[in-house]
Amino acid sequence: MNLFKADLHIHTVLSPCGSLEMSPKVIVERALEMGLDIIGITDHNSTLQCEVVVKLAGKKGLTVLCGAEVTTKEEVHCLTFFETFEKLETFQQYLDQHLPDIPNDTEMFGHQVWVDEDENILGEESRLLISAIDQSIEEVEAMVRSLDGLFIPAHVDRGRFSLYSQLGFMPSDLKPDAVGATFRANMDEMIKSHPELKKLAILRSSDAHFPEAIGTHYTVLEMEQCNFSEIRLALHQKDGRKVKELV
Ligand SMILES: [Zn+2]
Ligand SMILES: [Zn+2]
Repeated sequence: MNLFKADLHIHTVLSPCGSLEMSPKVIVERALEMGLDIIGITDHNSTLQCEVVVKLAGKKGLTVLCGAEVTTKEEVHCLTFFETFEKLETFQQYLDQHLPDIPNDTEMFGHQVWVDEDENILGEESRLLISAIDQSIEEVEAMVRSLDGLFIPAHVDRGRFSLYSQLGFMPSDLKPDAVGATFRANMDEMIKSHPELKKLAILRSSDAHFPEAIGTHYTVLEMEQCNFSEIRLALHQKDGRKVKELV
């Protein structure tokens, strides 16, 4: 088995709150500098910047998980990941269909653009990406499952936009692949208040919105190789794969 460093929660220039410096080029460079093996691209309610990151990262041997940080109807942030561009595109159509038609106020939130390998603008999302979509957490999970993706409620210890801040509990029918926690989380306390977490893999990541944050926190995964199915096995502690350490 081998050890891989994974920072699975990174925003790009496309997120309104993401720095304009967060181009695919800068993200890949910084991830490599920080010694990461895997990065997750998780813009708010959009997957449109993923493909360019994959293209750039592939040339440098960096693995990319493609997805989005979805804001559910209950305002719970959930990370979602998909194995193929085809599935990612189906999920993008789902997001487009369920994102409310509230225009982005660029003065207030900044531009929501996605760019190519050389940082030329490819497009701009006119609807505000940090709105909640009109789908419940169960509906989002069901959609992710139908595409055989990964479903990971984000930063569950946070006082806003998290599973426990918004719902107060883990719905019994929810079956996440893992949960995210911030570096501030006291996991012993969390598990005491929410015993269901004991059975789940917990991931730590940077939730980077600017380049310097990438790789400041990450999760070490023990796996044979670095790919989507191995990561799924590691999250479910199967076949000797596991989450080894939170940094
Ligand atoms: Zn979030
Ligand atoms: Zn985030």
